[in-house]
Amino acid sequence: MLEALRASALAAAVSWVEATPAELSALEPVHPRRYLNALEALAAAGGGPIDHDTYMGPRSWEAVAASAGVALRAVTEAMRPGGGGTAFAATRPPGHHALASRAMGFCFVNNVVVAARHAQALGAARVLIVDWDVHHGNGTQALVEQDASIRFVSMHQYPWYPGTGAADERGVGNVFNVPRPPGLPRATYVHDLLQAVDVALAGWTPDVLLISAGFDSLGGDPLGGFTLTPEDIATWTAALRTRLDGRPVVAVLEGGYRLDLLAAGVTALVRALA
Ligand SMILES: [Zn+2]
Repeated sequence: MLEALRASALAAAVSWVEATPAELSALEPVHPRRYLNALEALAAAGGGPIDHDTYMGPRSWEAVAASAGVALRAVTEAMRPGGGGTAFAATRPPGHHALASRAMGFCFVNNVVVAARHAQALGAARVLIVDWDVHHGNGTQALVEQDASIRFVSMHQYPWYPGTGAADERGVGNVFNVPRPPGLPRATYVHDLLQAVDVALAGWTPDVLLISAGFDSLGGDPLGGFTLTPEDIATWTAALRTRLDGRPVVAVLEGGYRLDLLAAGVTALVRALA
């Protein structure tokens, strides 16, 4: 991914910013300190499994804190006066499966919700989160579904990991799930996500857009069955920017497990943001 971004014709249009690791205080609006301390302690003890997919090594806490720090900094950059208004957080581990006190699905800290709370602290009262990862962002939904200041739109393969994301899960009216089977024509996925975004935006204007940008929704990813192409990522990004009408747009990396597709998808996203 980084090689693709650095090698492409994008290089002149992109400013690279190295973030610092997140402080615990920046994560605490989303995760209890006791949970964060337990993750840190597990890594310090050499690591170990949390569930079948989610394993900590001795340096995983460093990676988790750094990953959230990248999402935080991306928001700061995009919302800075004269900051350009867009940013992509090139970061792992991903976050959208992480619950308040439970790591799962490769996720430990919910980067996009941490980013949303940071955006709100910087003055963005209303936050739209659009999640196009092929898996449902169950952690994100669980963390925002009682909070009408955040609207969450997710399109995902269904039924599929982690099992949540049915259309009738509506939170306080702020959750908009678009469950879809694998193998549909790509144009259907493109259309259906944007249609759900438009429903979410009816009579409600967000101050910032955060994208949970997973690239396992691209056709050929080993963990999903959607048929999207990098061109569709560009289409979505441009369409979402139009809807935000100049307000900040920040994309945070989630899944994506075939490296060539990940690189191509990220390049398309960043080109559309730049
Ligand atoms: Zn995923």
